[in-house]
Amino acid sequence: MRINKTKAIIVALSIACISMPFLSSCRGKERLYRKSAILMDTLVAITVSADSKENASAAIDAAFAEIKGLEARMSFWSPDSEISAINKYAGVKKVKVSPQTLELTEKALFVSEKTGGAFDPTIGPVIRLYDFKEGVIPGEDKIKERLGRVDWRKVVADRTGLTVYLSEKGMSFDTGGILKGYAADVAVQALKDKGIKGGLVAIAGDIKAFGLKPGGGPWNVGIRNPRPESEKDDVSATVALMDEAISTSGDYERFFIKDGVRYHHILDPKTGRPAAGVRSVTVIAKEGVMADGFSTGIFVMGPEKGMRLLKKLGFEGVIVDGEGKIHMTEGLKERLQFQKAGGHGGL
Ligand code: ADP
Ligand code: MG
Repeated sequence: MRINKTKAIIVALSIACISMPFLSSCRGKERLYRKSAILMDTLVAITVSADSKENASAAIDAAFAEIKGLEARMSFWSPDSEISAINKYAGVKKVKVSPQTLELTEKALFVSEKTGGAFDPTIGPVIRLYDFKEGVIPGEDKIKERLGRVDWRKVVADRTGLTVYLSEKGMSFDTGGILKGYAADVAVQALKDKGIKGGLVAIAGDIKAFGLKPGGGPWNVGIRNPRPESEKDDVSATVALMDEAISTSGDYERFFIKDGVRYHHILDPKTGRPAAGVRSVTVIAKEGVMADGFSTGIFVMGPEKGMRLLKKLGFEGVIVDGEGKIHMTEGLKERLQFQKAGGHGGL
């Protein structure tokens, strides 16, 4: 079980209002309500602005149910998911999928194209060779052999027929780099459908905000320092989100260190090895699925190409490179609130 700490930070920032309903941000009929659950192998926390505990609870439960449904259909690791069926029939036949699985596949392929294949959801055969809990590093031969089956251009998504086909045997589609962001989008829609006017969905490092907090303020979320020296250092900046999603991909999420080398879970599809030269990438976009996919892909692209792509896409973002140097889009510079006086800290 992996409980992401970014999550805990978001909870801390938003819960203050719940326990102190006199704060100005809590005036009026609306109050903040929060519930969390373990879903998608991580902590999911949903905070909403609502006029009663009952309405808040019903809406949050509906959002949890949606996330559970997505997990069942789209998890790479669950043997009964539609994704597992797609993988099982790779090179054999196309597989009928739900509209949501088709949508996720199309969005993943969009990110692959825009990142020039740095984001490649067909990384599945290679990711399976690693075990980040046990510290397993695969050998070069094995990686080479499996890299031959990694190519996002061999994924055929048929929108009208609602099918997905991996056109070569042994291919495997891994939703891990994009599913949590997509789930945040779907959860927000579920809250809106239940009449909620403002809320924050946090699925580990994938967070989406909509509307306003009680009293009219925006939702503030913390951006984590990838190399904190102490607990106090954990969040180095906050940003106010307005109907936006934020996603962070970091080399500190799932990793082990062997012989001084950090092995983490974001792989360079060209080499099959953990992407080097970046510590974390944070992307802000309208859609959670885009923030999630691009934060993973830009991590692989590195700071220079990554910054160029952010600008081209019109997304805000920050990249912390291998030396701890911060690369930030102009728009984000104006929006960040730093925790410590005197600069950007380690971000
Ligand atoms: P997290 O899962 O910690 O939020 P990411 O969103 O960056 O982090 O996703 C990392 C996951 O994406 C990995 O666990 C793996 O399943 C998958 N992945 C790894 N490398 C790539 C890549 N180059 N392109 C697409 N997906 C990848
Ligand atoms: Mg991602």
